[in-house]
Amino acid sequence: MNRTFKIKKLNASLLRALKVASFILFAPVAFATQINLNLSSELKEKVENDLSFLENIVSAHTSPLHESIFGKVDGLSYKKWLEDRVSVISLDLNVPCENKSTTTECISDETGGAPKPLKISHSFYETNIPQVARASVLFHQARHLETNGTESYPHVACPIPFALGQQCDQNAQGAYAIQSIFLMNLSKNCADQSCNSKTRADASIYADQFRMRVINPSDRKAMKDDSTL
Ligand SMILES: [Zn+2]
Repeated sequence: MNRTFKIKKLNASLLRALKVASFILFAPVAFATQINLNLSSELKEKVENDLSFLENIVSAHTSPLHESIFGKVDGLSYKKWLEDRVSVISLDLNVPCENKSTTTECISDETGGAPKPLKISHSFYETNIPQVARASVLFHQARHLETNGTESYPHVACPIPFALGQQCDQNAQGAYAIQSIFLMNLSKNCADQSCNSKTRADASIYADQFRMRVINPSDRKAMKDDSTL
C-alpha cells in the first residue's frame, strides 16, 4: 500500500467516524417527558412536537436573567423546568379561547402548588402564531403554577394609555417577562441545529412584544440590557 493510498484510506475512515459522531451529537433527542399528556392522539402529537422542540434547544450563550430563571439555554434545563411545575396537560373545552391572536387565552392553569395540570383548548393549535411563540406559552402558564394555593406571578392591569388591558406584569419575574427572556435568548443565540433563521426572527418579534407588558420601567430596561449581556 503506497503512502498516498494509506492517507486516503485514513481520511475515508476518519470521515465515516465523524459522520457517526455528528449523527450521535446532532440527531434530535427522542422525546420522553414525565408530564402526562392526557390528550387525543392528534393533540398529543402536536404538544409532543412543541415539547420536543424545547427539549432539543442548543445554545452557546445564556443571558444573566435567563440563567437566574431557567438556568442555561438548553433543552434539558427546559424539560426539567417544565416537569417541576406541570404534572399533566389535558384538554378542557371550557378554556376561553376567543382571541386567536394570542394563545395565552387558549391554555389555563390550575391554582398553585406545582406540579399541577395545564389545560388547553382545541384552539391552542388553531392560532397562527409560530411554534417558538406557542411553545413559550407553556413556560408562561407553568410560571403561574409555582406557589401553593394561589396563582403565582398574577398579572396586573396595564397602565393607561398602554392599551393591553389587564394582561401586564409588574416586573421581570412575571409570566410574560420570562416568556420574553426565553425568546430573546433564542433570537440571539439559538444554534442552527435547533433553530433556523425564521425561528430566531419569530422569537425576536415576540420577545419584544412580551417585554412591552412589563410595566416597571427599570425592569423593562434591565430586560432590554440583558439581551446584550
Ligand atoms: Zn398569564
